[in-house]
Amino acid sequence: MNEIAVVTGASRGIGRAAAEALARRGLLVALWGRAEADVARVAAEIEREGGRAVAMACDVSDAGAVERAAHRVLHELGAPRVLVNNAGVVTRALVEDTTELAWDHVIDVNLKGPFLVTRAFVAAMKERARGRIVHVASISATLGTPRLSAYCASKWGVLGLMKALAEELRGTGVQTLAVLPGSVDTDMLKGSGFAAQMTAEDVARTIAWAALDAPDAANGSAIEVFGP
Ligand code: NAP
Repeated sequence: MNEIAVVTGASRGIGRAAAEALARRGLLVALWGRAEADVARVAAEIEREGGRAVAMACDVSDAGAVERAAHRVLHELGAPRVLVNNAGVVTRALVEDTTELAWDHVIDVNLKGPFLVTRAFVAAMKERARGRIVHVASISATLGTPRLSAYCASKWGVLGLMKALAEELRGTGVQTLAVLPGSVDTDMLKGSGFAAQMTAEDVARTIAWAALDAPDAANGSAIEVFGP
């Protein structure tokens, strides 16, 4: 039987590295991204390396798009063994300079997105009585950083979602964990003023460990990753 992984925001950065790491572990990976061409390029690269991957267009902040993409996964591939809620965006501005549009966009992608995607898959994963939902949060889920209010609020929110979900999942065979990276060398870090402490591959190894190797008793854990 195929073991399926779904990775959101898999066109580049941490999501791409996580998809590659899970494909190397033998999972058939569904790569979700806003532009199908971008995830298709990554899927082709994974297949060139001997892995199995399917590219799907999906904006995680769009409930209809999430339902359609999830329906495709469930009917064409099956219930995921692993879901990685990775897609994310950032906006940098003081609170007084943050527009409602910018605030809503960050919350919609970083917090509503993981809720919508989790909601679309969790019943099928519970039915299979085996699986892991890994949220890529951030160290910003534990502290406050100036000019990052929307981002910090979204990541503290994701941790709350993960903690509540972990309690709902007890005894079901499905677990959820969060990975909280510090500064990672990706497009998102550009313009932040922070120096990279690790690569996307460092974080991807932690995501793969949380998804496949961490003990079931780690359900509800938030794993901080600060680099070697
Ligand atoms: P990145 O290189 O900017 O990649 C972000 C990914 O999210 C891209 O694949 C992007 O796809 C996708 N995405 C954005 N909006 C989306 C939407 N509405 N629907 C679907 N996909 C969407 O950033 P990254 O550093 O790899 O970030 C990945 C995750 O790690 C994020 O949740 C981020 O908050 C978290 N994180 C990053 C750092 C860091 O220092 N870099 C630290 C802690 C946590 P498109 O091609 O469609 O834009």
